[in-house]
This record gives sequence, structure tokens and C-alpha cells, in this order.
Amino acid sequence: MEFCSLYSGSSGNCQFIKTEKIKILVDAGLSGKKIEQSLKSIDENPADIKAIFVTHEHIDHIQGVGVLSRRYNIPVYANCDTWGAMETKIGKMKEENIKVLDKEISLGDLSIIPFDVSHDAVKPVGYNIICKNKKISLLTDTGCVNSSIKHNIKDSQLLLMETNHDIELLKVGSYPWPLKKRIMSDYGHLSNETAAYLLSEVLTKGNETVLLAHLSKENNFPELAYKTVSDILIDEGFDIDNDLNLEMTYRNKASKVYKL
Ligand SMILES: [Zn+2]
Ligand SMILES: [Zn+2]
Repeated sequence: MEFCSLYSGSSGNCQFIKTEKIKILVDAGLSGKKIEQSLKSIDENPADIKAIFVTHEHIDHIQGVGVLSRRYNIPVYANCDTWGAMETKIGKMKEENIKVLDKEISLGDLSIIPFDVSHDAVKPVGYNIICKNKKISLLTDTGCVNSSIKHNIKDSQLLLMETNHDIELLKVGSYPWPLKKRIMSDYGHLSNETAAYLLSEVLTKGNETVLLAHLSKENNFPELAYKTVSDILIDEGFDIDNDLNLEMTYRNKASKVYKL
């Protein structure tokens, strides 16, 4: 299985997964054109995408969903509530491309399993994506983490983990107070610190790849997210060079292509 984060951040999210049998996207939160460009930058053809899975209806996750589905005749999978909330935002869809996904599905050689997260959307989810004995977990857009989320993201070889903001930067930054409160709430986003402690609980020192994701443009920067997470993991007894492979995703460009 291969994974590439085409874009990640508060300005738009799109993740690409490829196996011998199938290529899919999780979210398509930028213009169709930008997503096409990014796919081409890693030598992939947008026409080969066989499904788009949606985490929730916020615009940074769905902006290009309708356009890509219409242009390349791609089925779109989301739960029933999310369809209700996004249908008017993504434009007219071909009936056959509206796929309601409330639990696990198998496509090609992949199993795709949604799990609930805590965010101010109608029914937001993260995804586990499994191929043979390899597992990828995608966890962004959650304001807090409960035991069920923890359980879901265990035993993954690749973990896309939200590090949205630095609490101090958020507090002193220019956002209006209600927005700050929303981001810090249980239905907002994970801070660098919270993500780091979560990682210290779920990682097994098995050299898992951890990609820090969905960084805020205003309230975070890549070096800070990386340093906060690695400092906490070191404090918690991890050897940062050998126990895991900690890397970044990017708001404006594709990450490396990771092969599992
Ligand atoms: Zn969101
Ligand atoms: Zn988001």
C-alpha cells in the first residue's frame, strides 16, 4: 500500500492511497484543478481514482469533491448525515456516485473503516484503511480523544495525526474569542501537545510513520509542531530516531510517497 498526503492544513485536505488494485482519495478539500496538479506531481492520473471518502462536510474537506466526481465519474462515500449536510455544497451529483457509507466497506484489496471523532460537524469521522496486514489511520478534525478513538488508531504502520495549533499561539493570536473557544473545545481541533500525548499512548516503538497534519496557518508552524511533539515523545521515553519515523505534511504541496 502507498500513501501520500497531497495537501494538509486548515486551507484544504486531500489524502491519496494506492494499492495494486485501487487508488482512492480521502477528502478533496481544494479545487479540482489543484488536486489534479498534485496527483500529476506524483505521477498519478486523476482519472484512475476509483473513490473519494469524505470525513465531514467542512469546506476544507469537500471543496473539490463534486467537481472531481463529475469530471472523472468517481463515486463519493460519506455517511448519511454528512450527505445531508454537504449535498447542496458540492453541486449536482450523479445518483450512482452517491454512496452512503455507515460502516466498513471493502473496495479492491482495501478495507475502509470509518470511526467517530469529536468535531463541530454533523457526523465527522476518521478512517482506518487496511490492506492485507498493513493499516493506515487518518485522524484530523477532532477536539478531543476518547478511548474509542485511541483503540481505533492503535497498531497502524502509518498515522496521519492532527497537530492543529499551539495553545499559546492560539491564545495570543488574532482570532476572535468565540473562534478561539471553538478551536479549543472538545468539538474543535487537536493541539500539538494533546496529539503528542496521544501518540505516546498509542505508538509501540515499532518504527511507525507519524505524519503531523492539518496545521493551522495562524496558530502553528511546522517547526513548532515537530519540536513540541518530539520533545514530549522524548520525555515519554521514545528514541525519536529509532522508535518512530516522525515527518510533516504540507499545506501547499504533496508529502513524500510512503510505501508500506
Ligand atoms: Zn472540520
Ligand atoms: Zn479540517
